[in-house]
Amino acid sequence: MKEPLSKQLFDILVCPKDHAALVYTDDRKGLKCTRCGTIYPIEDNIPNFL
Ligand SMILES: [Zn+2]
Repeated sequence: MKEPLSKQLFDILVCPKDHAALVYTDDRKGLKCTRCGTIYPIEDNIPNFL
């Protein structure tokens, strides 16, 4: 399956709350924080941290 975000972008992304690493959700429509579990939706190939 195609990655929704470029690896270059994915590698620099961290959770804005606690700066922990993010992983894709199972459906790859979002990013989930490995520490606090917050899910951020990916909209038009851009993660929405708002
Ligand atoms: Zn977090």
